[in-house]
Amino acid sequence: MQKRIAPFLLLLILAAPLLAAAPAKPLPKPPAPEAITVDTHADTPTEFLDHPFDLGVVNTRGHFDYPRMKAGGLDAEFFAAYVPAKYANKGAAAYCLKIMETIHEMADRYPSWVRFATSTAGIRAAVADHRRAILIGIEGGHAIEDSLDLLRAFYRLGARYMTLTHTNTNNWADSSGDEAPATHNGLSPFGKQVVLEMNRIGMMIDISHVSDKTFYDAVAVSKAPVIASHSSSRALASAPRNMTDDMLRALAKNGGVAMVNFYPAFLSDVVLKASKARDEKLKPEIAALKAKDPSEGAEYQEGVRKLMAANPLPKVSWTVIVDHIDHMVKVAGIDHVGIGSDFDGIPEVPEGMEDISKLSAIPQELKRRGYSEADIHKIMGENFMRVFGEVEKVAKEMQAAK
Ligand SMILES: [Zn+2]
Repeated sequence: MQKRIAPFLLLLILAAPLLAAAPAKPLPKPPAPEAITVDTHADTPTEFLDHPFDLGVVNTRGHFDYPRMKAGGLDAEFFAAYVPAKYANKGAAAYCLKIMETIHEMADRYPSWVRFATSTAGIRAAVADHRRAILIGIEGGHAIEDSLDLLRAFYRLGARYMTLTHTNTNNWADSSGDEAPATHNGLSPFGKQVVLEMNRIGMMIDISHVSDKTFYDAVAVSKAPVIASHSSSRALASAPRNMTDDMLRALAKNGGVAMVNFYPAFLSDVVLKASKARDEKLKPEIAALKAKDPSEGAEYQEGVRKLMAANPLPKVSWTVIVDHIDHMVKVAGIDHVGIGSDFDGIPEVPEGMEDISKLSAIPQELKRRGYSEADIHKIMGENFMRVFGEVEKVAKEMQAAK
């Protein structure tokens, strides 16, 4: 038996298309995600470990604190868990744990300023919450003591990139800092395993400091784009740890991103030459300091700092940083360049870029040179965010495939 439809119900059915077409109150549009500004390398943790200071107030010592981070318009900083070469094969992992713990303290003690983050979503959430993000990048592959278990443990403790080497060649990767002939001809077979395991767990491969052959091996082996967290252009300044145009093109092909380093000797050959001459001149005095403090502790570091201050290098203007950006954009493309200051890891800074509070001069100069707003956002952090997101995606896919 067919049920009769009540007349009011029939009316409702007939009117449904009209009701649906009635103009609905428009939903408030979610705000467009803000463009994130990222600096991928600062050595502030070493400074903080050696001479603890209040990150919540403007300091005269060093290049970085949270008020100056805010003044410079910086949203996210990768603090370097830098493991000096002297710990290679002598307690490197223990030291790495110590400096990573220091970074956690540097974030945890200042909840009104920053949040510790381990992902692209974590960075954006911190910014949405009107805070800045602090992340960890390990500097020096010797930190893992040739153990993939340690590599995985460091990931769990928050490390999201690792430079395959520092200035020292380790047991599985050649460094650009070694004058001796290559030990491994790039990456050893175990070094290639390290790269693949970093891909699988979602840790970015950082090629800053590695030899040219290690770089080419890394981009050939890696299943995800790689980063150079703090490397400038070798065409403009011939430091062996800078990137050649050919390397920049290979990095672009890999989808990666190279972040320009602010150290004057990596920006200008005039400064590099003077820096080498100074090293030679100060060799006996530095050796004497080392004899007094063989562990290269606070006394040694203070002595070196005073020697450097007494023997200044030629000045270079901060706009040279933008010259490097310009060149690298021309060679690699707009999607493959970013910012990696190396603040607190460099004994000299360019004039006008004395600390992180000066950072916003860079987007202003890019604008003056004709870069579009979208391109400036890419350089100031969104290129890096894209690569970090890609690394997260590759890790998920590799984990799902197992
Ligand atoms: Zn470095």
